[in-house]
Amino acid sequence: MATLKAVRGTRDLLPPETALWNRIEAAARRVFARYNFGEIRTPIFEDTGLFARGVGEETDIVSKEMFTWEDRARAASENPQSLTLRPENTAGVVRAYIEHKLGESGQLQKLYYIGPQFRRERPQKGRYRQFWQIGAEVIGPTSSGSESPLRDAEVLEMLATLLDEMGIAGWTLELNSVGSAADRARYNDTLRAALAPVVDKMCVDCQRRAVTNPLRVLDCKVPEDQPIIATLPVIADSLDDDSKSHFAAVKAALDAAGVEYKLNPRLVRGLDYYTRTTFEFKHGGLGAQNAILGGGRYDGLSEAVGGPKAPGIGFAMGLDRLVLTLQAQEGESAPTKKLDAYVAPLGESLNAAALQLARELRRAGLSVELGDGSFRLKKSFEAADRTARKIVILGEDELASGILTVKDFATGTQTKVPRGELAEILKS
Ligand code: AMP
Repeated sequence: MATLKAVRGTRDLLPPETALWNRIEAAARRVFARYNFGEIRTPIFEDTGLFARGVGEETDIVSKEMFTWEDRARAASENPQSLTLRPENTAGVVRAYIEHKLGESGQLQKLYYIGPQFRRERPQKGRYRQFWQIGAEVIGPTSSGSESPLRDAEVLEMLATLLDEMGIAGWTLELNSVGSAADRARYNDTLRAALAPVVDKMCVDCQRRAVTNPLRVLDCKVPEDQPIIATLPVIADSLDDDSKSHFAAVKAALDAAGVEYKLNPRLVRGLDYYTRTTFEFKHGGLGAQNAILGGGRYDGLSEAVGGPKAPGIGFAMGLDRLVLTLQAQEGESAPTKKLDAYVAPLGESLNAAALQLARELRRAGLSVELGDGSFRLKKSFEAADRTARKIVILGEDELASGILTVKDFATGTQTKVPRGELAEILKS
């Protein structure tokens, strides 16, 4: 029978690598708390309409990459509901913001999430069909200051701090503004006119986008189309005065905070909801998949999915790519931490007593592995040496006298320790 394997584009994360995942997540939670973000957990699947309306029908994500299915109708009179595994988390957070009327408090909401996302992409290193994102959103009614360029700068400054704290060295921040909805409509007209004479030389996707949503032509990855894309007008020339001064204020605040960035006038990001500030953090060590995180402002998203006006800004970072970056930086063979002790029962009749001793030590806060009485002493020593700093030997005599034999592998010394003092001695 053919063996079953993890599905293409998905993978198992195993120890000791998962320790690195946990370290990154812990750094994120720590930094988010310092900036007054609270955690939100939204469902892994949502109504397909949320992504169609939020992310945009013409985006690669919605048009090609979603895992979507029809949920069986419960009654004959009901239509089946179209459901989708979330390809990103911002739409879900905004849906929750609307559903729970979080805007009614008048307060700015600062929410973060950590979780898996799903896209039917062509898998390669750094690109998976199930991948993890750490992201955050700052959203609220206009009166809460959610539209202020200070929020954009604060989020970007937090990201710089977060990457530093995770130990990611050598990132670059690329920044652009895609303007307001009106600026984008104007830019789309400009693009449509610029594309008209050349679009027949482009790929079929671009030919379609040139009509439906010309901005998305800038997402095109087809190498032959790139020289044409390079000649297209940039969005900066379509921004109105409000958008220009918003962007200028973001840049001024970043300059004041000492956060370095590079302007990239073609950075439009592959999701339709972005307005004004867009950004990406890149890392040279990742090869083709060099984006470690991306985000931007989405002042119209809440309204696009049926909610009140709620400007916001957010980002999502690829946890898989952070792990790859850190592994490349630190080398694969980061030493794993040894346990405090290994309890070795001498004979199977001592297994139950060994479990009880291990329980005492573990409850005292020590990390302990439990051996098996069927092991010969030599095998116990080998297993203990691999996993723990010290071995505690439990034979009939030790059990009766309450005096245990402890060997320290680092020094090679063997000592007799009364059971009552064991936990303290092992801690030292
Ligand atoms: P996006 O939601 O497309 O703006 O992506 C935000 C970040 O998520 C990217 O910068 C990547 O680090 C990560 N990411 C997006 N798609 C994938 C994928 N298929 N596999 C791994 N990471 C991804």
